[in-house]
Amino acid sequence: MDQILRYRIGEHNRIELVQGDITRQETDAIVNAANSSLLGGGGVDGAIHRAAGPSLLEECKKIKMQRGSLPAGKAVGTTGGLLKARFVIHTVGPIWQGGRYNEPQILENCYCNSMAEADRFRCATISFPSIATGAYHYPVLPAARIAVHTIAELLHQGKHSIRTVCFVLFEQEIFDRYEEVVHETAEHYPQYQIMEEPLSL
Ligand code: ADP
Repeated sequence: MDQILRYRIGEHNRIELVQGDITRQETDAIVNAANSSLLGGGGVDGAIHRAAGPSLLEECKKIKMQRGSLPAGKAVGTTGGLLKARFVIHTVGPIWQGGRYNEPQILENCYCNSMAEADRFRCATISFPSIATGAYHYPVLPAARIAVHTIAELLHQGKHSIRTVCFVLFEQEIFDRYEEVVHETAEHYPQYQIMEEPLSL
């Protein structure tokens, strides 16, 4: 069983932390930490392509032919193929190079542009992996702070169709770090009204 923690953001929105595999999520969209080629790769990208089946790669190839490579920080949506999620939003994280090459801004753009793309598809629920903290070596704590703060701010603004954002974290260690960061964000930004929800049995 996946470990899940639920938090309300104000009256209408939610953040969930899930320790598990993003390919099994039933949210309207899941986000892929892709690379610029859009042709699949290792990590979460490989897992999503395997689970979605070949139609995902076909759609990605078409997008690449039309628009070229996807720059870091941008996002583009496809259908979900065989996944339970109806859409996959592909975004390219920053490769960590010590933090002086605009990596924080690029990572924030990944979250903002993915939410905007999901909004275009009128999604109400979306799952994110921990973008850039695998092969791209972004340190987990600052990456988690950008992820949680950016999403809390967007949900607080309430301009999108999205009501629930799940962070689906493969490793227990990363899950624990996100949990710390949600509590830290609740404390530092009382205006977001972040409240842990007890889980019903
Ligand atoms: P990046 O290149 O953006 O760093 P990676 O796929 O290498 O992307 O890693 C991003 C995060 O996704 C890592 O924390 C990795 O452990 C995690 N991950 C790998 N497979 C899955 C999966 N099936 N579901 C959720 N997260 C995953």
